[in-house]
Amino acid sequence: MADKYDVVIVGAGTGGASAAKRIAKAGFRVALVDGKPRGKIGDKVCGDGISKEAFDKLKLKYPKGNELERKINGFDLYSPDEESHMRIQGEGFTINRLNFGQRLVNEAVDSGAILVDNTLAQKPILNGENVVGITAKKIGTSETRELHGNITIDASGYYAVLRKAIPFAKKYGIETEVDLGDVEICYREIRVIKEELDRSDCCKIYLEQNMAPGGYIWIFPESGRRVNVGLGVQMLRGHPNPKSLLYSHVLTRALFKNSELVTGGGGVVPTRRQLWSSVANGFILVGDSACQVNPLHGGGIHSSMLAGDSAGGVTIKALEEGDYSCSALWRYNTEFIDLYGYKQPSLDIFRILLQSLTNEELNYGLKNRIVTEEDILKTSMGAELKLSTGDKVGRVFRGMGKISLLKKLNAVAKKMREMKALYKSYPANLKGLGKWRTKVESIYKDVKGLARSQAK
Ligand SMILES: Cc1cc2nc3c(=O)[nH]c(=O)nc-3n(C[C@H](O)[C@H](O)[C@H](O)COP(=O)(O)OP(=O)(O)OC[C@H]3O[C@@H](n4cnc5c(N)ncnc54)[C@H](O)[C@@H]3O)c2cc1C
Repeated sequence: MADKYDVVIVGAGTGGASAAKRIAKAGFRVALVDGKPRGKIGDKVCGDGISKEAFDKLKLKYPKGNELERKINGFDLYSPDEESHMRIQGEGFTINRLNFGQRLVNEAVDSGAILVDNTLAQKPILNGENVVGITAKKIGTSETRELHGNITIDASGYYAVLRKAIPFAKKYGIETEVDLGDVEICYREIRVIKEELDRSDCCKIYLEQNMAPGGYIWIFPESGRRVNVGLGVQMLRGHPNPKSLLYSHVLTRALFKNSELVTGGGGVVPTRRQLWSSVANGFILVGDSACQVNPLHGGGIHSSMLAGDSAGGVTIKALEEGDYSCSALWRYNTEFIDLYGYKQPSLDIFRILLQSLTNEELNYGLKNRIVTEEDILKTSMGAELKLSTGDKVGRVFRGMGKISLLKKLNAVAKKMREMKALYKSYPANLKGLGKWRTKVESIYKDVKGLARSQAK
């Protein structure tokens, strides 16, 4: 027998719970389905870092009590040789992921959402080219049930259980597969170290292409002497094991001598532009399942909550008007771009460039402040990438025989501007997507060519 809801949401993580809260608050019947038992929802392998701005934008109360690990005032970015580092100011928090996740799920339930926990979504139910619900199985039983909804939201994270099972997805601009070169595979531990970090209000990020190829190492302070230490690598075929790298290159540092392991685990995160479109008839994608993570640093808590809230607003309107079509839901694509997504593709091409640089090039870039601290922060928040390519830097690079690196960086900065301008004219409907997409793909092609070219 089928249960009928207005909306079925798969995944009660930061994205799904945010959508559920907004829709349920408006008085609609929402089923919020998660494979985890209620008390474990939110528990995720993560760096646990989030900006203060995320809370301000969503008008959420700042984390405190058992949700708060540390107040953060910025992060230090280290060059591979660790001879240069930049301190990038910015307020934020490290949070206890489980307790924060519990806050979000409790708020959704208190707003009226019906939590269907311990239940795995299996596949979407289709009626022609409309998504009309899901089939799901209660864990530990053979019971399979159908949950029907006028709108179904896939907020199931990276594995995107529904997205991958929609045969007509591509026709709607929804990519079913993600290139593994656009994914980071990570391993992370929470450890208790012997002494508190020297700057316990600062997150540390280390770029090093041998220890963390195509990714980075992070050490983030948590409460007391606890730290969140992890390492991510680009998930290309034959990639090294991030846990082995963490153990051989990071946990061998003096800082971790005699430290105690609290917990450890692996995870994956898509670090690329959002999907071409995240809607189809009766269907919306939110969070990692829509690739809405910041491609530069892999942060996706903020964007998934913003997207969940926006998907909630668009869903409410569709329900009020009784129109669940792709064109009625399209506004979610444009709203996400306005709120956050406009910067993602330009950061994505910057990420492609960074992944192509050698340790030596990264050392040069950081040592010579080719991008300033302030500009790194501004760029990651959506401003244009400004390079300090004036005479002085030019002379240094020329002296080092690195002038083509400078040219490459300038060329990518130009492509980033073009990309941002293109996303300002994101099509108003599915019909316009094809032509527009060809232009975006052409920029990607140019940037990948530049990234492959050897800088001399
Ligand atoms: C190692 C690592 C470090 C990170 N560090 C940071 C960081 O410091 N800061 C930051 O902002 N972001 C970070 N991120 C990214 C961030 O964790 C995600 O972007 C964010 O959690 C996305 O939220 P979501 O709701 O889309 O998905 P998730 O939080 O992954 O939630 C998905 C939910 O769906 C449920 N689910 C999955 N499949 C099914 C199914 N078949 N049926 C029912 N339920 C299902 C899961 O149980 C889960 O509760 C990191 C990610 C990783 C892997």
